[in-house]
Amino acid sequence: MARDGSEDPHTDTNLKPAFKAWRFNATTFVINEHKDSYDEQPLIYAKLLPGDEEMVIIDTGCGGATKDPKIDLKSLRTFIETVQVRGNNDKPLNEGGKMKYVIVLTHCHYDHILGVEQFAKDSTIVVSGHSPSFLAPEQLPSHSLCEDLHIRTPQYKPVLVPHLHEIQLRRDHSPGSSEGTPPRSGLVVLHTPGHTPDELAVWDTNERVLFVGDTLYEYAHIIFPNEGSIVDWMHSVDLLLKIVGTEEAQICCGHVTAGRPAQEVLASTKAFIADVISGKEVVKRKFEKRGEINGEYVQDSKRYSLVCPERLILEAREAQ
Ligand SMILES: [Zn+2]
Repeated sequence: MARDGSEDPHTDTNLKPAFKAWRFNATTFVINEHKDSYDEQPLIYAKLLPGDEEMVIIDTGCGGATKDPKIDLKSLRTFIETVQVRGNNDKPLNEGGKMKYVIVLTHCHYDHILGVEQFAKDSTIVVSGHSPSFLAPEQLPSHSLCEDLHIRTPQYKPVLVPHLHEIQLRRDHSPGSSEGTPPRSGLVVLHTPGHTPDELAVWDTNERVLFVGDTLYEYAHIIFPNEGSIVDWMHSVDLLLKIVGTEEAQICCGHVTAGRPAQEVLASTKAFIADVISGKEVVKRKFEKRGEINGEYVQDSKRYSLVCPERLILEAREAQ
């Protein structure tokens, strides 16, 4: 059995995993695909649900494609079911696959969906129902960016859920519950279009943790593809600010940022994007990408930076 390798070299195993995992809170683990071929280093989250019979996985990473030739354990599912994690009492996160999975995809970009086929046969795959046409199977190769990268687009049958949908438990395990009590997971899906039309967030109402996918993060370029909208993004960030309110809450993103104060990160990212729209942040570089002129904007502190089609900034300016 392999170890997570988050601290020690792999002295006790001949399998080196593409992932590292650590405990985030009582019910949640962070899984980092750390040496992927695309340099995305996505953050994947595994959340235990009441009753210990189900596990929610938020995003599935890059499918194990790696630039490290020594890595030979490339399946996220195998990692979760067989690799000891120190923060989980040296047990795998879901030993032997005892728990069923609910997969939530924050959006359809390749670095979030390339591992999904490992779960597609026997797990519910939850996605945003905000824009079904954006997720139409014939659009997925282009909208996932798989086409651009000349890689195969994964095949899966998602369940499109409405805004404010609460992830369902198979049955209620809460104390005093009886048959027929609606199961409560405490995980609420929020439609947060902007990065893409299908971007979603998951609000863990019990732990007060907000999982935002690629809506924002720190210390790496926030990227909008041609299909994004800064106008929609602003509305979504306002919604998220309202959801977390002024009480303590943490934010967990699809890259880099995990476990920072939600309100402060949301508000400061919004201020940065507002500075880009107003012209206070000046463009550092322009280049063509997927047929559109993109601009790069970087705060002096480097905390926030942005790459997006210039058209999206002009649209946001006009919408004000
Ligand atoms: Zn993305």
